[in-house]
Amino acid sequence: MSADSCEVAIVGSGFAGSLLARVLAVQGYDVVLLERGTHPRFAIGESTTPLANLSLERLAARYGLADCHRLAAHGRWLAHHAELRRGLKRGFTFYRHHPEEPFADRGLESERLLVAASPHARVADTHWLRADVDHHFVREAIGAGVDYRDRTELTGADLGDDGAVLSGSWRGAPLTLKARFVVDASGPAGFLAHQLGIASALERTSTRSSLLFGHFDGVRTMRELVPGLPEGPYADDWAAVHHLIEEGWMYSLRFDDGVTSAGFLLTPRGAASLGAGSGEAARVWSALLERYPTIGGAFGGAREIVPLRYVPRVQHRLAAGTGARWALLPHAFAFVDPLYSTGIAWSLRAVERLGLAFEEAAATARVPAAEVLARYGEAMAAEADQIDRLVAGAYASMASFELFAAHAMLYFATVSFAEVGQRLVPVADAAWSGFLGVGDPVLEPLPGEALRRLRALEAGRDRDGAAFAAWVAESIAPRNVAGLADPARKKLYPVDLEVLLDRHALLGLDRAQIVEGLPKLRGSAPGDV
Ligand SMILES: Cc1cc2nc3c(=O)[nH]c(=O)nc-3n(C[C@H](O)[C@H](O)[C@H](O)COP(=O)(O)OP(=O)(O)OC[C@H]3O[C@@H](n4cnc5c(N)ncnc54)[C@H](O)[C@@H]3O)c2cc1C
Repeated sequence: MSADSCEVAIVGSGFAGSLLARVLAVQGYDVVLLERGTHPRFAIGESTTPLANLSLERLAARYGLADCHRLAAHGRWLAHHAELRRGLKRGFTFYRHHPEEPFADRGLESERLLVAASPHARVADTHWLRADVDHHFVREAIGAGVDYRDRTELTGADLGDDGAVLSGSWRGAPLTLKARFVVDASGPAGFLAHQLGIASALERTSTRSSLLFGHFDGVRTMRELVPGLPEGPYADDWAAVHHLIEEGWMYSLRFDDGVTSAGFLLTPRGAASLGAGSGEAARVWSALLERYPTIGGAFGGAREIVPLRYVPRVQHRLAAGTGARWALLPHAFAFVDPLYSTGIAWSLRAVERLGLAFEEAAATARVPAAEVLARYGEAMAAEADQIDRLVAGAYASMASFELFAAHAMLYFATVSFAEVGQRLVPVADAAWSGFLGVGDPVLEPLPGEALRRLRALEAGRDRDGAAFAAWVAESIAPRNVAGLADPARKKLYPVDLEVLLDRHALLGLDRAQIVEGLPKLRGSAPGDV
């Protein structure tokens, strides 16, 4: 094809756009990747999960992308890509703080929940320093033959029956690019939403939060600040650390080089109580550090290396995710909240799905079939709803740490069941399995039902928090391969392969099949180094 036309134009070169561009180029598609900025560039959305890394491994195996396999576990990353900055993430750590009081170390009765996502550091998840990781994926896309054009300002998209004409400028010169298919990977900037007038469906998302965030150097660890906490399944700070507060919650992600990415997600009431607004970032940040002394102890002496920024609302949601000649990636379609780090895993799942959709079309139409696009769009919409129900439930439970910790078991049971199942019984269409329990008759209804119950508790129509915890434990039982919701654990959950062996029947496997699969879970299978 000539320089001003291509088969697939992808708008936006975050990791998702670049990886999809590369996957399609490997398949022999003629792909142009358009980016309005330049790499390396700062971005947030950094913490991966086992499901994200499973997607990376599947992409690696299917398309021969060795780096994706290496970047899917902390140990392999260090061995092969030490030049790309990252942080060790052993699991999810939660603490509940109260105003004007240091975090209360009450030993095993502390308001503290740790859920390990990996049995040891070598196979652990990571936080991605997005400036490095996204740049890496762009370079790899170029290496695979993608025509990458940065500093592109697109001003128009005319869609017709046989594709689209994108117009604007590239490095200051006029640009007109014909594409047979357009993928919008522009994230919340919503390129196609603006160009095609795709309606907002924000009313489907009940979560509302604002964001105050930055990157810092010299953040002190909780272990330093609260000595004497009982040992957990991993060192508390090498995790996605969540600080629950009255006004919402804070994430804190530590990179191996000592930099920390952190941000407060504030509920509308929390933001209003602090007088949060544009131009108020520094004042609100200081007010929160002062109000919560242990968080203040962690961040008080830290140096801001990326200036604080305030975003009044982080949620967006569109009414449609696909059309005849276009598709949105998840972050262009919807975003709920960073709680439970769903974004990277969900985006990689979409890269897999579109990769498969183009594979099916490679020998024929060379654009995905209408029914495949419809399936893609329907799955994405159902999953966006599910993420919102789960996150809304978490917010509804935050006032009581017991309720929050009980509700969190829904998330951990759902993702651990999916992870173990996908690792032990790899199936060709794992990419199409529903995210966060969508399509699973046991798991799918739970976040919605939990939200209903929590709202009743919040409103005082129901007062029995213990009954909620019992309901969660009972509801997840048919999928609880990780020994979750067990009071004997005192909210400190390791990866317990003995429990998995005992509960083999939940996965439809016998004990011997689990034993055979254990190296895959421990990261000691061939090819894991
Ligand atoms: C506060 C916060 C914390 C988060 N934390 C996590 C987390 O811990 N874990 C997790 O899994 N997810 C997290 N997420 C979600 C995560 O950020 C997204 O899932 C992820 O960034 C999606 O990547 P992407 O490549 O699709 O899009 P993006 O990273 O948004 O990249 C979009 C790219 O498109 C470019 N672009 C935009 N408009 C145009 C245009 N008109 N023309 C050309 N280029 C354009 C941009 O410059 C950018 O390079 C978080 C999100 C937020 C808001």
